[in-house]
This record gives sequence, structure tokens and C-alpha cells, in this order.
Amino acid sequence: MSKDILVTGGAGFIGLNFVYYLLKNTSYNITIIDSLTYASHPKEIFKLISDSRIRFIKGNITNDKDLQIAMDRKYEGIIHFAAESHVDKSIENADDFIQTNIVGTYRLLQYLLKGYAKKMIHISTDEVYGTLKLNQSPFTEETPISPNNPYSATKASSDLLVRSYYETFKLPLIITRCSNNFGPFQHREKFIPTIIYSALHNKKVPVYGDGMQVRDWLFVEDHCRAIFLIFEKGTLGEVYNIGGGNEKSNLSMVKQILNLMGKPDSLIEYVEDRKGHDRRYAIDSTKLQRELGWVQTSLWDQALEDTVDWHIKTFKEHSL
Ligand code: NAD
Repeated sequence: MSKDILVTGGAGFIGLNFVYYLLKNTSYNITIIDSLTYASHPKEIFKLISDSRIRFIKGNITNDKDLQIAMDRKYEGIIHFAAESHVDKSIENADDFIQTNIVGTYRLLQYLLKGYAKKMIHISTDEVYGTLKLNQSPFTEETPISPNNPYSATKASSDLLVRSYYETFKLPLIITRCSNNFGPFQHREKFIPTIIYSALHNKKVPVYGDGMQVRDWLFVEDHCRAIFLIFEKGTLGEVYNIGGGNEKSNLSMVKQILNLMGKPDSLIEYVEDRKGHDRRYAIDSTKLQRELGWVQTSLWDQALEDTVDWHIKTFKEHSL
């Protein structure tokens, strides 16, 4: 008999890619719980529910009644993606971030305590480590937590809750911290889709500050494989960093995408820098490679080109 996995936030960017990964590479039945915020993909969910392996619950992880509907069985695992994820929005108003990212995670931990899942993988972010100077080594799992914006502070808070539930109750928990993802289904508000969307319409491409902020880009398919590997073979109570090893300045990313799209650099427009903007993120994935044998299989140029093509096709299909 097939076993069950619960995916929270499975209608969002990474969660949806992960659901497709599970469908393609495993025989798990998948329950998705997602409140379908503006960042979700309801049309994809509508397509997915015709698959007998998928059960969709429109529910909010902060709401115990919604969670009770999902908790009608014992799961092999909960893969917890659901979050408010856009830093700029958290700077405007952090209410939803505190609710979903902290309270929502707490509610899931309560169900884990009651034995509803054999383990939970908590999907976190490299942003909890704060920022790096150009000459500093990439973040390791030992780097102290030092978040600099309300989004990363709520993610760090949820990481600490997860850690405390492991230490106090010995619950089967693992935390993953990944770098910036790119790939299909990323919301238009995020950096790479914004570049593609603006360039497609010959609009100015906004670049924060001097554009020299550095991010370490991870293709979402490599990320999904890493999460599944950690789910199957990771050690409980551990943190695993997942990085792409592709450190790029924001400005060089914009230029590479404009070049791929045959658009001029004159579309670049420098705008006022984001408040508290972290200068550099870079992540050391040695532990994941050495202990679990994870290797990145995507090739940077190809993955970026495929991502650009996917977004252009999607914008055109939806007349965006
Ligand atoms: P996303 O914003 O694209 O998707 C989040 C999903 O969660 C959406 O479908 C939304 O409807 C759902 N959701 C939000 N609040 C909810 C609630 N209260 N109850 C139920 N569902 C809710 O986010 P993403 O980019 O896919 O990120 C997934 C996870 O990965 C997040 O935890 C994020 O912090 C982490 N992460 C993302 C990145 C990245 O580059 N995208 C990098 C590091 C870490």
C-alpha cells in the first residue's frame, strides 16, 4: 500500500516543484495543505487534483480546524514549505509573516508531538545567517543565526522553535537552509521573474542600490532532490545547508538575463536600496555532499535559459 506525505505550501513555488518531483520519482500519496495566498498557483492545483495520488486541502496552517482535516492519518513525513516569503512585504507589514512562519510552524509541531508524522523537514533559508562580507567564507551549519529583516527573523524564530522541539521532546525533525532558488512557478514579484517580465515588455528593470549584492543561486530541481534525500537519509535533529555554488551579483544576473533575451543593458534602472539589504549570501553544502552524497546535476547556463524560457512562455500564455 502506498504511504502518505503531507506537503504544506504545496501550491507555492518550491512546494509545487516538490510535489511534481514526488509524483515523478516516488509512489507516495501526497496531501497538500495550502491557504492559496496571492503567491500560490491554484490553476496547477486544479490540474493536479485529477491525479488519484493527490489530495488537496485548502487550509491555513495557523488554523487548528484546517489542520485537523489534514491530520486524519499518520504521515511518513511532513515537508513544511508554507510561509510568507517576500522580504519587501515583510518590511511593509510583518503580521502575516509572524502568523504563518512562526505560529503555523508551532501548530505543526503540536501535531508532530501527537504522533501524526514519522518526521518533519522544516524548510528554512540561508537568510537566517544574516549577511557576509566579500572576503568571508560561506555560511556553514555552525554559523550563528543573525537575521537582518522581518522575514528572516520569522524564519529564524521558526528554526529555533523546531530546534527546541527536537531538544525538549526528541521529535523527529530536520531543518534545511537553502540559498535563493530559481526555476518554474516562481512568483512574478521575485527578482528573476521581475527581470524577465520587465524586459519582455521593454520596461525598466529595477536594480536595488548599486546592484552589487551577491546571491548564491540554486536551481529548484536540485533543491527538491536534496530535500527528498534529506527526508530519506538525513539525521534527525540536524541542520543541512543546500546551496547552488553559483554566486552572482544582482547586476550580473540582470545583465545575463537581458543578454539571453536579446535586450539592451539600457533597460537597467537603479532604484533606492531595500532597507536592511543583506550584502552577500553564500552557502557551504559540504555536509550534504559528504554525508548524504548530494550532487548538483543542473548546469547553470542551461538551467537559467530554461527558466527564462518558462517564464516568457507563461507570461505570454496568461497575457501578462
Ligand atoms: P512561496 O511564497 O512561493 O509559496 C508559499 C506557499 O505557502 C504559497 O502557496 C502560499 O499560499 C502558502 N501559504 C502561505 N501562508 C500559508 C498558511 N498560513 N497556510 C497554508 N499555506 C500558506 O514560497 P517559496 O518560494 O516556495 O518558499 C517555500 C519555502 O522555502 C519557504 O518556507 C521559504 O521561506 C523557503 N525558502 C525559499 C527560497 C526561495 O528562493 N524561494 C529560498 C530560501 C528558503
